[in-house]
Amino acid sequence: MTSPPHIAVIGAGMAGLSCATALQQAGFRVSIFDKSRGPAGRMSTRRGDGWQCDHGAQYFTARDTGFRAEVARWEQAGAAAQWFPALRRFDADGSSAVADPAERFVGTPRMTAPAALLASTLALRSGAAISELQRASTGWRLHAQDIGAFGDVYDAVVLAVPAPQAGPLLRAVAPRQAALADETSMQGCWAMMLQYAAPLALGFEAAFVNRGPLRWVARDSAKPGRDGTESWLLHASAAWSEAHMALDADGVAAQLLPAFAELGGPAPQHWNVHRWRYASTATSRTEACSWDAGLGVGMCGDWLNGGTVEAAWLSGRALAQRIAQGPA
Ligand code: FAD
Repeated sequence: MTSPPHIAVIGAGMAGLSCATALQQAGFRVSIFDKSRGPAGRMSTRRGDGWQCDHGAQYFTARDTGFRAEVARWEQAGAAAQWFPALRRFDADGSSAVADPAERFVGTPRMTAPAALLASTLALRSGAAISELQRASTGWRLHAQDIGAFGDVYDAVVLAVPAPQAGPLLRAVAPRQAALADETSMQGCWAMMLQYAAPLALGFEAAFVNRGPLRWVARDSAKPGRDGTESWLLHASAAWSEAHMALDADGVAAQLLPAFAELGGPAPQHWNVHRWRYASTATSRTEACSWDAGLGVGMCGDWLNGGTVEAAWLSGRALAQRIAQGPA
């Protein structure tokens, strides 16, 4: 009996987890690697003493029927729930309530929960920043920063990382796919997490902001399944973030807190900032995924498919289907 092909998936965000899960279900042997301490990637949550705040993805849609079925599975497992925030929209000339029928979901009790659920059935190696891919006669070998070479040889490699991080890893070994990644630009986002001693009564729980440096604000502690300190999240717009990537934390706070005050938000008791270097995709692509069966190299991720959690999950699943169709 021959052993199943062994696939290395680099990146345990939603795309990598979805791809790895579907490959495993199709009978492949899968090892998944991530440079961070745990899975989830940009679906992340900052946690401190008695508080938490989702500082990456804020909510996700589930328009695709396959993804909606997956989200129903997460809901049943207690890892996701629908979120019904009182929404407002702030424009240059005023503000209005948003009555929007879109279904919005969040991870429960925090945004990382769906990723943790998916990772629980996978062989995940965290803290492994893959720094080099080597093609040997028998397959692919991986090297990781501060760790060195892994002993296993893989039949195929999947890059499930943001485009600017895929390009450098692929340039020497898969130039066509490296070019696809290199021609995709991504934009940053400054996030600010605010803590308060008591609930704020602003008259809304989340808002789209179309003026000044902010793009989105949300009362994180009012999402389903949360408890603990009153916490709010501010996201700056891509344009403002890109223009202010080099600011330090105080410099960011000096501009974002007054912008929040204009929406009614008082000064917080404590705050933190996080700089997302690659938050959103400026180039719109709809390839879903990329697979070179001859080389045994695939790419998936939100950047190939529309820039959302749902797009990332669909991209990973599409790549697994492509790999399962042909020789690994
Ligand atoms: P990622 O989540 O980025 O996963 C990539 C993984 O690869 C990471 O875990 C990273 O650590 C790992 N990695 C990278 N390089 C290496 C390496 N060399 N070796 C090992 N591991 C590596 N989407 C929505 O649907 N709704 C929203 O409201 C929303 N808001 C957002 C707000 C912000 C501020 C940000 C940052 C994103 C937001 N998104 C939102 C987008 C959403 O988070 C992403 O579309 C989705 O999470 C991307 O998943 P992914 O798997 O493609 O990439």
